Formats: sequence, C-alpha cells, structure tokens
Amino acid sequence: MIHINAHYLKLNASYLFSEIAKRVAAHQQQHPEVPVIRLGIGDVTHALPAACIAAFHQAVDEMAQDSTFRGYGPEQGYAFLREAIAANDFQARGADIHADEIFVSDGAKCDTGNIQEIFATDTRIAIPDPVYPVYLDTNVMAGRTGTYRNGRYEGVVYLDGSMENGFIPALPEEPVDLIYLCFPNNPTGATITKEQLKAWVDYAAANKAIILFDAAYEAFIRDDRLPHSIYEIEGAREVAIEFRSFSKTAGFTGTRCAYTVVPKSLMAYTAAGEAHSVHSLWNRRQSTKFNGVAYPVQCAAAAIYSDAGKAQMTGLIDGYMENAALVRKEMQALGYACIGGENSPYIWIATGSDSWSFFDMLLAKAGVVCTPGAGFGTCGEGFIRISAFNSHENVSTAMSRIGQALNT
Ligand code: PLP
Repeated sequence: MIHINAHYLKLNASYLFSEIAKRVAAHQQQHPEVPVIRLGIGDVTHALPAACIAAFHQAVDEMAQDSTFRGYGPEQGYAFLREAIAANDFQARGADIHADEIFVSDGAKCDTGNIQEIFATDTRIAIPDPVYPVYLDTNVMAGRTGTYRNGRYEGVVYLDGSMENGFIPALPEEPVDLIYLCFPNNPTGATITKEQLKAWVDYAAANKAIILFDAAYEAFIRDDRLPHSIYEIEGAREVAIEFRSFSKTAGFTGTRCAYTVVPKSLMAYTAAGEAHSVHSLWNRRQSTKFNGVAYPVQCAAAAIYSDAGKAQMTGLIDGYMENAALVRKEMQALGYACIGGENSPYIWIATGSDSWSFFDMLLAKAGVVCTPGAGFGTCGEGFIRISAFNSHENVSTAMSRIGQALNT
C-alpha cells in the first residue's frame, strides 16, 4: 500500500490569503461603487525595465535560428549572468564572491524551500516569528518538526520579534544548527546593521551552524551603512548561504529568475564530524533536480546590470520607495508606531487591536486591503503589513481614505 508523507498532515493550513480574498470579495459585493485598493499581497505592479525587455526579445530571436539556438544550458546558470552578478552585486561591495559560487534559479521561493534537503533530518532549526512561511513549511514537510500546537510547531526554535527588539531577534539561548534570517525583512520591513549581523556570523562560527540569509529585498536599502549582503561581514563565507531574487528588484515575479550564493569555503559535517563542502552538495542537488533557467530569461536578468538597466531598475525601486515613505509618514501622523518602509517596501504597523479586526476596519471604512500580521506567526498578532507595491496614485488615494477613516 502506498503511504503518504505523513509530515504533510502536520502542516497548519494557511488561510491567510484565501481568507483575505474571501473577505475582500464579500466587501466588494456589498460596496461595488468603491473600488478596493490592494496593498496586501507582495507582488509588484510595474512592467519589466525596457533594457530587460530588449534583451528578452533579442534572445527570443536567437532561439528562432538554428545557428544561434540554445538547448539545455548549464544547470548553474550561464557564465555571462553569473559573472555579472559576482562583479556587480558582490565584488563591487567588497564581498569576496566568485561567479562559480552563484547558482542561478527560477526563484528564491524554490531555493529557500529546497536548500534544507541537503542537511540532516535531525538538524535543529531556528526560524523567526513573524516569518515568510516557506522556511517553516518546508522543514515541516521534511519531518524536522513535531506537531502544530497553539500556533507553533514543536521542535522549532522560534526567534521572537517584537516592538522592543525592533523585530531583530536575539541570538538563540539553546544550540541550533540552521538559522533563517531575512533582511530587509518580509513581513516587518526591519533591517539589520553590520554589527548586529556580525553577532549572528560569530554565533554560527562558534556553533558550527549555517545561516540562510534571505536578501530578496536588498535593492530597497537606502541607508549606506546597512549591509546588502551577509558577505560584507567578515567570516560569513564560512557560515552563510545567501538568497537573492530579481522578482522585487526588477519586476521578475512572473518572469522568474533568482540566485543562491554558496561559497566554496562553507562546510557542514558528516555524522563522524568530518567537514564536507556544502557547495558540492548543492551543485549535486541542482544538477540532479533542476535544468536551468530559460536562456531568454537569463539574458533579460543580465540586462539589469547594463547602464540602462541599472538606471531603469533604480527608477522602479525609487517609485515604490516613495510609496513606502508616504505610507509610513501618514500612519505615523495618525499615531501608529511603524517599522520598515525606509529601507524596504513593507511597512509593519502596530494596530493596538487584533490584526484581523484592524484588517476588517480598513476594508470596511477605507476600502483598502492590507495583510493581517497574525498570518505570519504568533508574534505578528497586533500588527498589519502594508505593501508599497502599487501605483503612486493608488497609494495616495489609499492613504487619504485611511486618514479619513481613522479620523472619524
Ligand atoms: N523571500 C522572501 C522574503 C520573499 O518575500 C519572497 C517573495 O515574496 C521570496 C523569497 C520569493 O521570491 P521569488 O519570487 O524569487 O521566488
């Protein structure tokens, strides 16, 4: 008899986005005259930069001729893209990362989800709360947790975020082997300083642990003192894997392109305590289960690093950051404490009430959709997330509606 993977049955059914959709649909039915403005789901709204589109078109034309057609490409990505990434995203910032340490993929979701399979099942994991749910759910599927009780899985070391710690969790008090960190953070928009990140790198080195550093939102950093990459921190090459994505940086959410950095000096250990290269394990995993990103997509991604591409991408991000600044300013003026929005596209707002009630109130009174913080973990209760991913016009209208709603 075929048996299922019973760990899947432990998964807490996430009702977050389906529940939001249900409540929005009910509201729209009752109030069809007021168009709803969505500042909830973290998807971008602007088109790909023109430089990416031009490169995309040209690559499609190459696929139309036998002489320039490309079939299977390297599983790790084409050298032209890996070299552009290493030079622009790392070496230009003084981070010692080389092209052969970069694995191009079709998304940071897949990579942050798949990476855990190269580590032992009894790996002790530390996961922030609130959190991007992929880190947690993929470990549940792999059997690394116990059952779900009172909003938490047994066997997970949760790293609590709060207003007091600015949603930068403290180091774990018990030993852990694999640590998930995400800065700038989704959902909170919190950022980490070099000194704070150094403490995590030192912790990982002392405990022979590995940090999985999700930097999907690094392009939104405005403050020059903040690290864009964990490899700007001394010692990180020995303890960290970094995930990046072109999704939010350049509008690739539907086009799909991202990458993961696995330094060759990063080691994990056999049961007998012998050091083993993590790079070789990930390379083996990718060459076995993944067949590379489409050539035209990689050409489009490489175009981000051209002069025109860089300027267009900056324009896109600047537009979203103007929205973020407006949301933050208006919510603070209304008396709400906020995290994020200065170096990230998300603003995390302390509601002073439970997060679903606040969601309902904003929808009913302002016709604006946000995301209730409780959907990201128990520490998210009492907060909402507002996303800057929308047109400036929509965000301005949403904020004036929210202003009116909360002042009456
Ligand atoms: N990591 C974080 C923190 C995210 O918020 C997201 C998307 O929302 C991703 C990764 C996934 O990115 P991608 O579109 O590259 O799969």
